Amino acid sequence: MKHDKSRAMFEQIAKCIPGGVNTSLRKLDPPLVFSKAEGARIQDIDGNEYIDYHMGFGPVILGHRDPDVENAVDEVRGSLDLIGAGSTEIEGKLCDKISKNVPSAEKVLLCTSGSEATYHAVRLSRAITKRKRIIKFQGCYHGWHDYLAMNVMSSRQKLGVHDPLSAGMLEEAMQYTTVLKFNSTQEVERCVAKNRGKVACIILEPIAHNIGCVPASLEFLKSLREICDREGIVLAFDEVITCFRHALGGYQSICGVTPDLTTFGKAVANGYPMAGICGRAEMMDRFNTAKGDVFFAGTFNAHPYSCAAALATIRKLEGSQIYDRLYKFGKVVSEGIDSEASKIGIETYTAHFGSVFITYFARPPMNSYDDVLRNDAQAFLSYRKAMIERGIFMLPYNGKRNYISAAHTDQDIERTVEKSGEALQLLSASREPS
Ligand code: PMP
Repeated sequence: MKHDKSRAMFEQIAKCIPGGVNTSLRKLDPPLVFSKAEGARIQDIDGNEYIDYHMGFGPVILGHRDPDVENAVDEVRGSLDLIGAGSTEIEGKLCDKISKNVPSAEKVLLCTSGSEATYHAVRLSRAITKRKRIIKFQGCYHGWHDYLAMNVMSSRQKLGVHDPLSAGMLEEAMQYTTVLKFNSTQEVERCVAKNRGKVACIILEPIAHNIGCVPASLEFLKSLREICDREGIVLAFDEVITCFRHALGGYQSICGVTPDLTTFGKAVANGYPMAGICGRAEMMDRFNTAKGDVFFAGTFNAHPYSCAAALATIRKLEGSQIYDRLYKFGKVVSEGIDSEASKIGIETYTAHFGSVFITYFARPPMNSYDDVLRNDAQAFLSYRKAMIERGIFMLPYNGKRNYISAAHTDQDIERTVEKSGEALQLLSASREPS
């Protein structure tokens, strides 16, 4: 596969954009410059085509440039752009849909990124409880702000201590964030007992997708609900990945545990910028969009184009067979890859939930970040790079998950399994002593 044009253009791009990319985990080696996306396919400027399993980091659930979504956006474009005062009918329709689908969503507010949504969840929880401390879990990612940007893919030495994702983070802002082990009720009980009356919020991804695919156990989620009720703590599910991706009602509609607040984003608008926070009415009414005192603002919030995209996405997902198909593909591709690996004698575990899957080079189970640390990161990256060279795009970063869209076909899945066989064979050969 040739990458000459990408390399040359990237060199130009990197003169004005630090590192040539606008999000740290977009950096690729070799650099790729993309110019086309359609359905399940993306194309770089050298003309290489890839079956895409990155899907914009998850948002693109229906496939790139889904015609129904694009038509809906075009229709709104014919009459409206950003007004930035008052309301629009379309944002009302969208929030009504979200409210009807997501169990915790008595009321909904829209913003543009998941990071904003989780920031609002923390601030609202602190205002409601008049407490400072928040609990997050090792391996969960909730965006880039100082309250939560820590302890995701930490090194073993950083377990149990703050592991900020960035320099320049305010220590005083991190000081009230406690990081605990995912799926450990015991640790939560211990922390809450030690900080009785001081914990404002427990926030978690109900499936820790930021370290691949590590689901919270039902017992853990139920015990969090119980602890929060007992102690007056706000329970927030960060469903930025899981909501609309796994079900229209989010993972909460699957597991039956209803949080007080939910953050969502990504798949809601099939790739258009949109996120939000929803939850119990009396909590949401604390925002100053209503009569409350918790500040909520954003120039681009509820942008009509994003609202149109989101409404069209939800309408297309509603009552369709799309989730059945996505779940089936997730299972088939995961079992297929593991079967190829076992034929070659490589130990893999392709963890999956719905349309999200990840091949760990480690044995199951994967219940917490400690387990994910057993993943052979070098094998993981070699496999992914070999897949890219074979026209299957899986983000070459350790622990990052793959996403299937409604535009993927049986043939795409078959091809992915077949190419996995080749990539794993290559890996096996490179491991043999010379
Ligand atoms: N929460 C979760 C669970 C996420 O996965 C992400 C992004 N990967 C965020 C929050 C932050 O969202 P954004 O990148 O839109 O700010």
